Amino acid sequence: MERAYNFNAGPAALPLDVLKEAQAELLNFNGTGMSVMELSHRSKDYEEVHNQAKELLRRLLAIPEDYEVLFVQGGASLQFSMVPMNLLLPEKTANYILTGVWSEKALDEAKKEGRIKVGATTAGQKYRSIPELEDLDLAPDEAYVHVTSNNTIYGTQWKQFPNTKDVPLVADMSSDILSKPLDIKRFGMIYAGAQKNLGPSGVTVVIIRKDLLERSPQELPTMLNYNTHASKNSMFNTPPTFAIYLLGKVLSWVERYGGVKAIEKLNDVKASMIYDAIDQSNGFYVGHAEKASRSVMNVTFNLASEELEKKFLAEAREKGFVGLNGHRSIGGCRASIYNAVPVEACEALREFMLEFKAKN
Ligand SMILES: *Cc1c(COP(=O)(O)O)cnc(C)c1O
Repeated sequence: MERAYNFNAGPAALPLDVLKEAQAELLNFNGTGMSVMELSHRSKDYEEVHNQAKELLRRLLAIPEDYEVLFVQGGASLQFSMVPMNLLLPEKTANYILTGVWSEKALDEAKKEGRIKVGATTAGQKYRSIPELEDLDLAPDEAYVHVTSNNTIYGTQWKQFPNTKDVPLVADMSSDILSKPLDIKRFGMIYAGAQKNLGPSGVTVVIIRKDLLERSPQELPTMLNYNTHASKNSMFNTPPTFAIYLLGKVLSWVERYGGVKAIEKLNDVKASMIYDAIDQSNGFYVGHAEKASRSVMNVTFNLASEELEKKFLAEAREKGFVGLNGHRSIGGCRASIYNAVPVEACEALREFMLEFKAKN
């Protein structure tokens, strides 16, 4: 059976090797006579899977000792609430930088928990860009600054992060974590739903500096307090075992590939292939994002009319390209080219774009 050219925005493509390994182990994992899904989460076999995934993530992202790595559920969307519930001290203000729909959603949840401010927004420009660092309204006494590192819907990405000094920088990295090396020390906390770059849906990764755990109010519901998960190695209750198992396999795959530096190079090659097709089309394809803010993970573009876009998407579908329609909120086209999308798929898309332009 042919594998599709999968450009889905999330859940998204997984490495073929990972799927094959999981398939081979499905009925009998590690000689247990059962699948990982059927193991007790308190068993040695599962514990090893769990701890290995955590260690691999630490190694790949060079996460320092004074940070906890947590596996939680509820998606990135639950983090929109958990971040302010745990980190928004009552006498302080949380600063949200708006660069798209996901940061707006994060802000909406924070509003319910305490005082907020908007330190910058590019909503007026249809979120085509990331604000200039010098235009951010930052203050030294804020509870934290929240950014969305990659804007999945608009196809923009922060290239540099602000220096927030003693104010913790909190980043939603759902759609670009593990796509390049990161200086973790610049952040107080990072969170990411796994289903774009890390694995399947069902598990969310939280990387949090240990001193920030002291902020959580005692009266928070147990499951919504980061300390619950930190103190119990993310096994206070039943973790999403199969999702964590696959996450571990994706991380091993990245390590075998050469780590995040090698992945970054590959991602740059893949993105250039498609952006070049846009830039050399004499306006046949128009990128949504401003060039300086372009995402290496989500390439967004339009054609001259909605009619032509429909034709493009229909022909693409016929040729086996999946997931190229833009998010329902902005329309147009979007190619999500996360780590696991093979370079061959990007090459094929580029060829198709050139061909479609020549014919139309
Ligand atoms: C997909 C996405 C989300 C939503 O994630 P869920 O796990 O579905 O809650 C949040 N933020 C960003 C940047 C995303 O790309």
